[in-house]
Amino acid sequence: MSCKDCDLCRERTSAVPGEGSPHAGIMFVGEGPGFNEDKQGRPFIGAAGNFLTNLLASIGLRREDVFITNMVKCRPPKNRDPLSEEMDACRHYLDEQIAEIMPKIIVPLGRHALARWFPGESIGKLRAQPKNFGAFTLFPLYHPAAALHNGGLRSTIEEDFTKLGALLASFGSQGLQTIKSYKVGSAALLAVEPETIAELESDAEIPTTPESALESEPQTGRDKADDPPSQQLSMF
Ligand code: URA
Repeated sequence: MSCKDCDLCRERTSAVPGEGSPHAGIMFVGEGPGFNEDKQGRPFIGAAGNFLTNLLASIGLRREDVFITNMVKCRPPKNRDPLSEEMDACRHYLDEQIAEIMPKIIVPLGRHALARWFPGESIGKLRAQPKNFGAFTLFPLYHPAAALHNGGLRSTIEEDFTKLGALLASFGSQGLQTIKSYKVGSAALLAVEPETIAELESDAEIPTTPESALESEPQTGRDKADDPPSQQLSMF
């Protein structure tokens, strides 16, 4: 069985539910899968993903210590922005993932993910500021792909990650260790259960956008560098 909750199911190769620790204390939420992610069914494995992996390492985290997912679980064709109706249709998967994993910190990467909690707000304004959101702390950051298209943003994102590291450390005397070992009782882990993945079945990049257009964030959080030549794209 595969998800047909929105039209993104038509062109996907594989759905990309998300991956990481079911006990993660911190969850990263991107925009949507890109070309490579669609092919392999794994989130953030292209150029933006490599950068994210390095940013995590800079604060002592491995991908397997965290949970990484997206607003929409299937690739928007040609890496366009996900439509609001697509994000609405996919929302229940993210809600289920949050309910099961119960992260202490959720990091929306970029404006589309930020809008899940702060519709209409600017990522440039809210980035790197912890917001208490009931059961979890929200810590919005620029999308790592933004740095790939705006070299000036690279150091901003790196500095923001340092702040995220400080936030993690503030979660107790054991710092990161507390987060890494945070457990959710006997959570059923819908996010990683085979039937959920099967239910989803079925890509990323960004046009260069002037800094002013979005406080430097590209139109999409996915990287053109990850795309095959355009003739190959036409197969989608
Ligand atoms: N960009 C995203 O927002 N998500 C991915 O999985 C890859 C790139």
